Amino acid sequence: MDMFRILTRGASLKKCKEITTDYALPTQKQSSSENKKEKSLAQQVEAEVDFFHQRQKKTVKMVELQQDDEENEDQEKHIDALLRITTEAEAIQLRKSIQSKVSGDDIPLPICSFEDLITRFKMDKQLLKNLIDNDFTEPTPIQSEAIPSCLYDRDLIACAPTGSGKTLAFLIPMIQKIKETKKNHGVRGLIISPTKELAVQIYNELTKLNKNKSLQIANLNKSITGKLRNKIISSKKFDIIVSTPLRLIELVKSEIIDLGTVEQLVFDEADKLFDSNFVEQTDNILTACSNPKLRKSIFSATITSSVEEIAQSIMDSPVRIIIGHKEAANSNIEQKLVYCGNEHGKLLAIRDMFQNGEFKPPVIIFLQSIARAKALFHELLYDKMTVDVIHAERTQKQREMTIDKFRSGELWCLICTDVLARGIDFKGINLVINYDVPTSAQAYVHRIGRTGRGGRAGKAITFYTKEDTMAIKSVANVMKQSGVTDGLAEWMQGDMVKLSKREKKEIKKKPIDRKNISTVPGVVRKKRNNRKEMIDASKKRKVMAADATSNDTTEEQ
Ligand code: ADP
Ligand code: MG
Repeated sequence: MDMFRILTRGASLKKCKEITTDYALPTQKQSSSENKKEKSLAQQVEAEVDFFHQRQKKTVKMVELQQDDEENEDQEKHIDALLRITTEAEAIQLRKSIQSKVSGDDIPLPICSFEDLITRFKMDKQLLKNLIDNDFTEPTPIQSEAIPSCLYDRDLIACAPTGSGKTLAFLIPMIQKIKETKKNHGVRGLIISPTKELAVQIYNELTKLNKNKSLQIANLNKSITGKLRNKIISSKKFDIIVSTPLRLIELVKSEIIDLGTVEQLVFDEADKLFDSNFVEQTDNILTACSNPKLRKSIFSATITSSVEEIAQSIMDSPVRIIIGHKEAANSNIEQKLVYCGNEHGKLLAIRDMFQNGEFKPPVIIFLQSIARAKALFHELLYDKMTVDVIHAERTQKQREMTIDKFRSGELWCLICTDVLARGIDFKGINLVINYDVPTSAQAYVHRIGRTGRGGRAGKAITFYTKEDTMAIKSVANVMKQSGVTDGLAEWMQGDMVKLSKREKKEIKKKPIDRKNISTVPGVVRKKRNNRKEMIDASKKRKVMAADATSNDTTEEQ
C-alpha cells in the first residue's frame, strides 16, 4: 500500500505543463480542451491506485457526492469534477509499481483510474457511474493494463491471478466499444466460458454494468436457447452474448445465430478452452466469427506456453500482459500441505480441523471424482454439517440452487469436483481444502483461487497420502513459485520436484485409485454387505417362486 502512496505523492493536481500530456499514445491523442477538465473538486481527488485496498476512501467521496446530489446538483457534473488527467509519468510509475510485464508492439499505457477512461477514451459517463455504484472505484492491475489495449482494438493475451478482476477487464472495453459502433448490427460481443456457472456469473457482472439497459445482452441458457429455436426472439436483437461453447455451436450450426457480425471475442479461462477437451469447439467458434475486424482476447490465471503458442497463431500482433508470476498462486492465499498417511487419515484431518477451529466456514472441498464427492458429502452430513455437493451429475437447477444457498450463507461447506474450480467468484471463502491432490499445477491454482479473491485473505490446505508422491510435486512447485517453503518436506524442495511432460500427462490421464471414503469400520461394512446380499438373494428367490407359480397355472390351462 505504501508503494501506492509513494507513487501518488508527487502527483500535483494543479494545472501545470505535465497535466496537458498527450501520453504519447499509439493511435489516439488527447485533445487539449479535455485536458482542462480538472475543477476545484478534482483538487481533493488523489490519484490513488491501490486497487481493492482503498476502495472505501473513494466510496466515501461518492457518498458525499450523492449527498450533494440531494441538493439538486446534476450528478454528471460531479463525475466531471472527479476527472483529472493522469500524466504519462504517473502511468509509467503505476506500471512499475504493479510490476506488470507487458510486451508487444506499440503498447498502450495503463489507466491509473476509471476516470482516465473518460479523459483518455471518452468513455460513456453512465458506464463510469455504473462502476462506481457497484463499488468498483479503482481499477485493479489487470484492468489498468488490459482495458486500454482492448480499447485500442488490440488482440490480447492476459494472464493475472485468480480473483484479480479479469472479468471487468474484458467487460468494460467490450461495452464501451459496442456503444461506440452502430446499433442493430447483430451480435457484436461474444464471451465464451468453459462452464455454465461461470457464464451465469459473467452475465450477472455484465448486467451490473448495463444497468440502464442500453445494450441487449444474453446468457445462452436453456430458456433463451428455446426461445431462439422457436423463433420467439432473434439472435440479432442481442449486442453481447455469453455462452459455453457447445450450446453456441449447436445454434450456429442450425443457423439460428450468425457470428459473422462479432467484433469482440473473449475466451475466459482460455487455457481450459484451448485444452484437448474443448479445442475443437473453440476452433469451430473461431471459424464462425468470420468478421475481418474481429478482435480476440484470452484471459486466465494460468496460461502455459503451449496455450500461448496457439493464441499467438490466431492473433494479430497481440499485446501480452502478465500480472504477478505466471506459475504462482494468488499471493493473498496462505498455502499449506498436510500429510494424511492414508484415506482414513484425511477424514481424521478434517475432524481435527473442526476441533481446533481451523475449519472456518465458508469452506470449499475439492475431490477428484463424482463418487468420492458424494461419499464425502454423506460422511459430513453424518457430522451434522450444513453441507451440499456439486458435480456434473446434478441438474443445472440443483447446481444453481446450491450455489445460491452457498452464496447466501445458508450452506457452510460446499463439496465439489473440478467443475467449480474455474472462475466462480464466491465472496469471502475462508478455506479451500484439496481433499484429493489436483492433477496439475493449473488445476491447483484455480481450485485454491476460489479463496483470497478481491484483495481478501484466504487459506488453502492440500491433503496428500503416500499415493500422491508424483502429483504433489506440481503443488509443491506452485507453492515454491509463490514464495512458500514452510511445510514443504525436504524432498520437495530440490530439483527432483520437476516432472517430465510424460509424467504430467500420465497424472492427468489416470486418476489415482483411492480407497473408499468411509469412517465405518471394516467389520461393520462387511456385516452390512452380508445383510444386503441376503436381502437381495431372498428377493430373487421370491421372484423365481412367483414365476414358477405363473408357469404352472399356464400349463394347467
Ligand atoms: P478473476 O476473473 O480475475 O478471477 P473476478 O473478475 O471474478 O476475478 O473478480 C474478483 C472479485 O473482485 C469480484 O468479486 C469482483 O466483483 C471484484 N472486483 C473486480 N474488479 C474490482 C474493482 N476494480 N474494484 C473492486 N472490486 C473489484
Ligand atoms: Mg474470471
